[in-house]
Amino acid sequence: MAVHRCTWFLTLCALAFHFGLSLPAFANTGNTAPVTVSENVTENALHQFEDDLYLYPQQTYNELVKLTETNNFSLEGKAWLLLRKAQSESVLTLFEDMDTTFAAIEPYANVLTSKQVALWGYLKGVRLHHKGSITEAIIALEQAVDVAKEDTTSTIYVLSIRELGYVYALSGDYYRATLILQDAYKNLVSLNNPFFNGLLEESLGDTYNYLGNYTKSIEYYEGALAFFDSLNYRPLVASTLLGLAMVNRKLENWDDALTYFERYEIALEFTNEHSEKFFLHYGRAMTLAEKGDCTAAVSAIENALSLSGPIDYNAELYKKRALCNLALDNLAAAKQDLAKARNIIEGIDALHGTQWHLELDYIDGLVAFKDDKFEQAFEFIHVYYKDFLELQRLNNSEYVTQVQATMEAERKDKEIALLKQQAQLQAVTAREQSLKVRQKNMLLAGVVLIFALLLIFVVYQNKNSKKLLALSIRDDLTGLHNRRYFFDYFENNLVKLNPEHVGLALISFDIDNFKHINDSLGHHVGDEVIKTVAQTAANTLRTNDVIARIGGDEFIIALPRTTLLQAKEIAKRVLENIRSHRFTTKEGADFTVTASLGVAYHHQNEKIALDVKSLMESADTALYESKRAGKNRFTVAA
Ligand code: GH3
Ligand code: MG
Repeated sequence: MAVHRCTWFLTLCALAFHFGLSLPAFANTGNTAPVTVSENVTENALHQFEDDLYLYPQQTYNELVKLTETNNFSLEGKAWLLLRKAQSESVLTLFEDMDTTFAAIEPYANVLTSKQVALWGYLKGVRLHHKGSITEAIIALEQAVDVAKEDTTSTIYVLSIRELGYVYALSGDYYRATLILQDAYKNLVSLNNPFFNGLLEESLGDTYNYLGNYTKSIEYYEGALAFFDSLNYRPLVASTLLGLAMVNRKLENWDDALTYFERYEIALEFTNEHSEKFFLHYGRAMTLAEKGDCTAAVSAIENALSLSGPIDYNAELYKKRALCNLALDNLAAAKQDLAKARNIIEGIDALHGTQWHLELDYIDGLVAFKDDKFEQAFEFIHVYYKDFLELQRLNNSEYVTQVQATMEAERKDKEIALLKQQAQLQAVTAREQSLKVRQKNMLLAGVVLIFALLLIFVVYQNKNSKKLLALSIRDDLTGLHNRRYFFDYFENNLVKLNPEHVGLALISFDIDNFKHINDSLGHHVGDEVIKTVAQTAANTLRTNDVIARIGGDEFIIALPRTTLLQAKEIAKRVLENIRSHRFTTKEGADFTVTASLGVAYHHQNEKIALDVKSLMESADTALYESKRAGKNRFTVAA
């Protein structure tokens, strides 16, 4: 560690000497290596910079910020410091800060050396890529490579090639991506530089990942990881672990993927300034969604979206959330998500016609299907498969022709060329295989579709019959049991209701002058009165008592295990509670109602079999007696 800190000072010293600065603090470190202002030293210093940048990203950045705040630099020196600051920001993923640093570099644009021009082009490419401006990123990076190729063994050349390969792959141009990366690799292999090899292997890992050749991708990522680990370049270890997590996700090794995400999270601890653990949250959210854990995925996606990730990745998150929302029956939310994804993807020219774009139609089809727009659904899905197959066909034929041409030209190119051919051929086979798998999946999807329809039908039927059952025992207006239930209940529970030595009482009651309420205040007020009276009576009863609405303004109550005295008490309470309730209406009416009750009682000791029908009739007769005697009272049947 101490050794490395010292190299950082050395770097600054070297830079300082090169730019004609005096840095007293560093001059006193005791490390007084005779640094001369030569091109050689500069190269060493610059090379050393990357080592420090990846070993101590945060400290390196902090030192650079401090240095850029001082003013005693030559023009070239100031430009270097700003460019290196932007480079540090890219390693720390402080992408938005890069824009500010770029603005500070702008005044130096005309005096930059070719190395600086290349570095700036590279950094612009990184920034544009992150913003999702893939076409512009490709232009910037092609220019960077063009300038940097003056020295194909320089760091800036390798960095630019690596980034260019990445954005080529992102735009679907896997052929060019593989070609430039393999080419650079081939030329650099003899240098045996672990940093360069790591960078190129990681990028090949990315390319094969996009290409769908996951085995190859894992091989390259693991190679890169070993190089970066040996160097202890934690930002690069982190990005490689992320790659491994993503490939495992695609291989549907969800648990391996989640484990790599864990390792990635730990590796990210190289700085707490990491502006956005976006890819961590992105990857986890996508993994959860694909694993089918949609409830967890929806909130993980929300979380990832709240971090300012690259917009094309946000589009993928919206797509996944649309699918999850479909699975969770949130059709409206799914539509919104899909619209957002479409909006983003259609705004990025480089993505037009790529699989990312075509997938939108597919999801649209699923949305239409959920929306019961079956014709539209099939149209969308049909278009998707047609375009997708066409894309596969185009890519494959172009790919194969170009691969063959390359193989011809490089036949003599011994071992590395051979390896390259193998890699490319395997990629083609993998693509053909994945096409076959997709076709099989299409068939499978048809079957699944029919199965899903059946399932929906069964669930629907089930729900309906439950609803019907509920309807058949409840009275709609009051929520009390209805007449039918009441009688069924008696038939089935008579024995339980009627234990030895205790009686059963029935109270029949009817609201007094109810027609008048309907006529003077309206049917809706009448309804409210029925509901309230029902509730009031129900609240007066004991747990085991049963109340039902017989019809109109008429109710019946069964009081099992009751003495006649208790039955009278309860009838009195019902009567009083109904008449003491004050009704008020929106229209300003203020009134009370009364009811008439009839109580019939059957004592167990009477030795007469209980007959519910005749007990009912007695209660009704008693009720009629109450009406006749002037209402607002209860009568006990003789
Ligand atoms: P009485 O004191 O003799 O019981 O006189 P009443 O005016 O209450 O007459 P009765 O009980 O015979 O009339 C019940 C009325 O209730 C007849 C019908 O128009 C009305 N009705 C029946 N069902 C409903 C309902 O669900 N809502 C409303 N608002 N009125 C109903
Ligand atoms: Mg009535």
